[in-house]
Amino acid sequence: MSVQHPIVSDLRPSYSLTDAHHGPHGRAAAAGAASKPRYFKNPWPSYRTPSLSDAYTAYQNGAAIALPVKASRMADVEEGTPLVTRTNGNGRLPARVWVRPDLREFGEEDEDDDWRDPPVQVVEPSWGEGEEEDVTWLGHAGVMVRIPWKGKERAGKCGVVFDPIFSYRCSPSQYVGPARYLDSPCRISDLPAVHVCCISHDHYDHLDYYTIIDLWKYHSSTIHFFVPLGLKQWFISSGIPSERITELDWWHESLVTFPSSSASTEQRSEDVPVGPDTDLTLKIAFTPAQHRSGRGLLDHMTTLWGSWCVGVVDDEDASKARQQGMKDWKGFRMFFGGDTGYRYASAPEDDTTAICPAFQEIADLYSPMTLSFLPISTGSSLPFIRTVLSLSLDQYVMTSSQHCSPDDALAIHEILKSQRTVAVHWGTFCDGDEARGTRVEFGRARRRRGVGSRWGDEGDERKTETKGRFVCADIGQTLVLPLSPK
Ligand SMILES: [Zn+2]
Repeated sequence: MSVQHPIVSDLRPSYSLTDAHHGPHGRAAAAGAASKPRYFKNPWPSYRTPSLSDAYTAYQNGAAIALPVKASRMADVEEGTPLVTRTNGNGRLPARVWVRPDLREFGEEDEDDDWRDPPVQVVEPSWGEGEEEDVTWLGHAGVMVRIPWKGKERAGKCGVVFDPIFSYRCSPSQYVGPARYLDSPCRISDLPAVHVCCISHDHYDHLDYYTIIDLWKYHSSTIHFFVPLGLKQWFISSGIPSERITELDWWHESLVTFPSSSASTEQRSEDVPVGPDTDLTLKIAFTPAQHRSGRGLLDHMTTLWGSWCVGVVDDEDASKARQQGMKDWKGFRMFFGGDTGYRYASAPEDDTTAICPAFQEIADLYSPMTLSFLPISTGSSLPFIRTVLSLSLDQYVMTSSQHCSPDDALAIHEILKSQRTVAVHWGTFCDGDEARGTRVEFGRARRRRGVGSRWGDEGDERKTETKGRFVCADIGQTLVLPLSPK
């Protein structure tokens, strides 16, 4: 019987790597020995801490956001015709609801779909059974992608998950902290086999202890974890065996091989077959993102954050598999953005240094992408701060260095030449009004840029050929990719 979990071999980087994102190394480095950096930083001028004037703008926008919606919410409730699903997991209305004033009225150019009611819903995953890749949004940043095996000997498909969270709260405690408004689409025990789990960074909404424990419990015969530099120890402390965890720095790559049943399982890593003679070979690369890390008060920036590029090594690409990148490969390639900023929002229009250059560098080595996942909202902690402290700040102005607006995500989609992109990091840990605001803002930005909105070809007259498609799915909705022409 063939080995269930993959054989992972690290590739020695050939690309001229930068260590500009490394802080000082430990004492061992001074003595000439290899050691890990003690902290990390965003090495670009596009990463800027919010200024006092940003804080003032955010406060002013925030106040404008809060008041009219509060009034309208009462009106809606009294008339008995709520526009959106406003209950949280306990069936209670959130204390207050906020959405930007300009996103509260149906605009001239808006489409009915932007104002769908509810803006996001939870459906049961169907998991595609065909010969194609399929993708299911698991809520918040979590996604599962399933890639068909080349041979017929393995059952099902190769399961790759990114940043899954199934807990009720994304917080150090399940008693307090940001809570879900929408449930997970299934339980971890219901997921099809998971072979690869990539984590973008250690924030609670991307790395959840209970989810990792259950993933190991139900998928230990198949799973291998890929984590940012500095995070392996957290997984070992959580009980995951060291040999099932690969820790990567930016621009480092691994080859992930599922040998066919005829291949020996005793091979040394450099002999591991690639492409032909395998049921599947993947290249997994850890790439930059403009973000932060930290789970407590004292560990900020002590582990790395980033994005992931995962590509299928087709038989035709096997000879190039050990070279850096996936440029112009024939196989299926995907990008997971995790949580990232793109452009410092308060900079003047013509300030090109306000744009994070990492995405063009990623595109130069890995694009075009068959499939991408990009965050379109600030996520979870800021809606929580507003709910609990009644402190309403325009979250995007305050945190644009580490979070994407819908328009930022569309810009990255275009840079990566992504054929299909699924919106993530929205609509899960925030109330229905905020989710609708995100959806409306996203719809307007998408039409402005001429990017397609439909997953399939039916009746889509827009310029999907050149600009690709970028969709807002439902939580649990399984989307099937078209069979790639061979
Ligand atoms: Zn984060």
